[in-house]
Amino acid sequence: MKYFLYLASFCFVIISACSHKVYKTTNRSYKKQVKNYAKILREYPVTDSAGLQYADNWVGTTNFSMRRPNFVVIHHTAQDSCEQTLRTFTLPRTAVSAHYVICEDGTVHHMLNDLLRAHHAGLSKWGNATDLNSMSIGIEIDNSGSEPFTEPQMNSLLQLLDRLKKAYNIPQANFIGHADVAPGRKVDPSRYFSWQALADKGFGFWYDTTNVEVPLDFNPLQALRIVGYNVNNPEIAIQSYKIHFVPQDTTNVITDADKKILFDLLKKYQ
Ligand SMILES: [Zn+2]
Repeated sequence: MKYFLYLASFCFVIISACSHKVYKTTNRSYKKQVKNYAKILREYPVTDSAGLQYADNWVGTTNFSMRRPNFVVIHHTAQDSCEQTLRTFTLPRTAVSAHYVICEDGTVHHMLNDLLRAHHAGLSKWGNATDLNSMSIGIEIDNSGSEPFTEPQMNSLLQLLDRLKKAYNIPQANFIGHADVAPGRKVDPSRYFSWQALADKGFGFWYDTTNVEVPLDFNPLQALRIVGYNVNNPEIAIQSYKIHFVPQDTTNVITDADKKILFDLLKKYQ
């Protein structure tokens, strides 16, 4: 037994050492890039070619802070393991990343400073916002897309959301999914993800259709647009809405039940 424990701890040290070594180079690249951005921030006044008539003497204000994220976009990785995702996010050729990766056992990897821009949302639109990467925190949950999310993962996620909401004063309505902001192109997080559990804790809204009476002239597509969906292609907008709010329904048809849901959501999201 003693020998086994010794062997186990020896192997653990080897694995830690190896994984540390794997990311030594990419961590160096992270630091170098941050240093370059810091250099850009320090260089002021900047010269530009806009032809504006700038004052001869630069006067910098003394009152400012860093821009803050105002949205959280949640994803599932659609990969086989957390380790695979960490690899993907440290290979320059993939050009993708997220601020946080949450592994099946609840471990959280914080891969990028919240104040920097991760490449997770891609071509996206929510309301009038079109550069979600610039204004959001990206959270990737290690999940294949065809399995439930684990309890430790959801616990870590809720803790993380709580910290982000408080730190950046993120509105309750602004906790959304990749499928919400990229209808048709993305379907994550999958129908296994419980947005209701998040809304119960104050991240995003859920509906209550008890005693809801829908007016005859109610326009469900307009409601979807006001909630935030890009309704240029109604069918895929409805698909994203269903993934988020009616995961058990795999059709793209607006039913009477959906009208009640949307009428209720409209009041919360507008
Ligand atoms: Zn995604």
